[in-house]
Amino acid sequence: MNCAVIVVGAGQGTRYGGEIPKQYQRLAGIPVFRHTLKAFLDHPEVSSVLAVIAPDDAALFAQASDELNVRTVFGGATRTASVRAGLAALQADPPDIVLIHDAARPMISKALISRLIANTTAEHGAAPSLNLSDALKRIDAHGMPVEDVSRAGLVQVQTPQAFPYAPLMNAYANARETSAFADDLALAKAAGLNCILVAGDMDNFKITHAGDLERAERVLGVQKPMLTITGTGYDVHKLIPGKAMMLCGVSIPGDLALLGHSDADAALHALTDAILGTIGAGDIGDHFPPSDPQWRGTDSKVFLAKAMVLLARQSARLLHVDLTIICERPKIKPHRQAMRARLSELLDLPLARISTKATTTEGLGFTGRGEGLAAMATVSVQVSAP
Ligand code: MG
Repeated sequence: MNCAVIVVGAGQGTRYGGEIPKQYQRLAGIPVFRHTLKAFLDHPEVSSVLAVIAPDDAALFAQASDELNVRTVFGGATRTASVRAGLAALQADPPDIVLIHDAARPMISKALISRLIANTTAEHGAAPSLNLSDALKRIDAHGMPVEDVSRAGLVQVQTPQAFPYAPLMNAYANARETSAFADDLALAKAAGLNCILVAGDMDNFKITHAGDLERAERVLGVQKPMLTITGTGYDVHKLIPGKAMMLCGVSIPGDLALLGHSDADAALHALTDAILGTIGAGDIGDHFPPSDPQWRGTDSKVFLAKAMVLLARQSARLLHVDLTIICERPKIKPHRQAMRARLSELLDLPLARISTKATTTEGLGFTGRGEGLAAMATVSVQVSAP
């Protein structure tokens, strides 16, 4: 039996972050796309492999597929258009069955490929599915859970999806040019071509979000040397009479406030700068210029969240935070535990990895005279060695 594989990698997937599309990022030092192609090329029952790529990615693909026996066609604006282009390219020498797979699922196993080929006939296709194990909730526009959704009768469907070639080709030929289906199963079903579900594979996940490459590397058992990097941050804001101040994302009532363009949370500013420091991403003023009116009065958790996003994009993980607040007043001690708890929440870090401290300067200098409050942060992050 002649079995062709279409690997679809024309997307520009930006959800993952990073400079290049996720299918070209490196997994254990090798582009994701190459892992995926090799899984099929190495399978004894696969006759040919065709890659659908974006025209802009031709150079990246040439590098990723160097010395591999793979044909290439350019995809379209939607996944449906890309699969259509792939199927059309097989028309001159039509296979009996075709497997359609996402380039961003590099962990596809030999066993799953075999299972799909064995379960595909001239009458029906086959697709891998997994039962759901987590609870399902419907959420509102604010992301709050509003309703339980029953798992009964629901499964997750992966790729590859396998079909007899001729009826799938017909289904695509008859579908409207502009139609965009979630997957091939949906289009086949709409055209009356049935598909059975076979057991999927938990490891056959799609590289979608930050951290998925590391997860794939753990599954592959890649041992990467890790480095621990330290960043520091320092910030000062002027003390003025007022009713409350924000420090570490906690409101401290009293007769003092901090003067600043945002909410003037010097502790979160120092912490944001420390995190940016670990990845050489400049300082808080580069990302949120004080001259920009849109940051007036902003809750400084916004700045911290941005630094954490940039950290995740570098696949770096925050390990530890040590923060010192320098002032004569207000007294910090009564608020230290609330500050730790708030940082734990904002940083998604266990309490044990967060230290908040305070000191005075014995009446010396601007902090001693009560003119201002200073904060100093030191953070440690873990990154894989280059
Ligand atoms: Mg500041």
